[in-house]
Amino acid sequence: MGKNQSNLVRAAVHRAVTEPASIETIKIASPGPEEVRVEVSACAICHSDLMYIDGGWSTTFPLVLGHEVSGRVIEIGENVSNVSVGSPVVVSLIRSCGKCRFCSKGQDVACQETVALDERSPLTDKDGETIFQGLNTGGFAEQVLVHCSQIVEIPEEMPLSAAALLGCGVLTGIGATRNTAEVSEGDVVVVIGCGGVGIGTVQGARLANAEVILAVDPESQKHEAVLSMGATHAANPKIDDVAQVLREATGGRLADYVFIATSSISALSGAINLLSPMGSLVLVGMPGDGATFTIDPGLLAANNQRILGSKMGTARLSVDIPALIEDYLSENLFLDSMISNTHPLDKINEALEEVRVGKVLRNVIVFNDI
Ligand SMILES: [Zn+2]
Ligand SMILES: [Zn+2]
Repeated sequence: MGKNQSNLVRAAVHRAVTEPASIETIKIASPGPEEVRVEVSACAICHSDLMYIDGGWSTTFPLVLGHEVSGRVIEIGENVSNVSVGSPVVVSLIRSCGKCRFCSKGQDVACQETVALDERSPLTDKDGETIFQGLNTGGFAEQVLVHCSQIVEIPEEMPLSAAALLGCGVLTGIGATRNTAEVSEGDVVVVIGCGGVGIGTVQGARLANAEVILAVDPESQKHEAVLSMGATHAANPKIDDVAQVLREATGGRLADYVFIATSSISALSGAINLLSPMGSLVLVGMPGDGATFTIDPGLLAANNQRILGSKMGTARLSVDIPALIEDYLSENLFLDSMISNTHPLDKINEALEEVRVGKVLRNVIVFNDI
């Protein structure tokens, strides 16, 4: 059981674009009927957190960011039945009603229904002023209060630091290969961007028995890691002719799938040229507000190609998280080697900066003694 069950918690609060987070004691509400309060054990840093901090996506300040969370349940609302007090859990930003036409088809990521937490933040500062809950979660804090649909109970043997990665990046990357694209044995896959999402995508392609997996990233020091996790080839777009590397790797074949696992819009230019007839370009990373790119629609049609958007890997938490845990526990999914550094909450700004400069795979903020 957790040590801190008070509603006063320490959190990293962002008050303006590009301003460093301040560590403050804030108040977190107790759960409403469908809500769960979780003591956070670990929260990984995702590029999406930086998109808000750096102004790439508009948001409301002040806010607590962080949305790749693992921890233990400390309080549940009266209608919550999917988790129990004391259970270890993974928390994700995906909120869903479970009943609408999307949810009933397993398309939880497209749910448009609203819940009480969409209307009011559970966080306030010492003066009672609202602090917004970034990405439905607010995980850079000792506790989070979330809707029960955002939570999946996990087995005790699952390490909580590795489990945090399942809340967004790995879920998104592997989900893009399994749910959105349906990569299958023998496919040729290109993954552009080798952060947490890109490495998840590489691992998803490996688990699907893709034949060639070309990982592309301008930081060459990431290549060794991504090759150890399933990529068969790696290329640096600043140095290499990526199309040439692909042709050499495949004996002239182009890609069945090109995954864009970065928010960099420049990664999109030329990506379509790596695609085989009948191939799919899968957009996983989300560029800043208003970003655009151009394609030749006639060529797309003539080559029978598709462009697929993939939000959170089209994930269904209650199905995908247990499957990923099974992959991890059977040593088929590598999570521990994706964690570059762990930091306490006090070092949040340093931890964010390491992610911003692009040299780490995943940085994790850890709480307590996990
Ligand atoms: Zn994320
Ligand atoms: Zn729904």
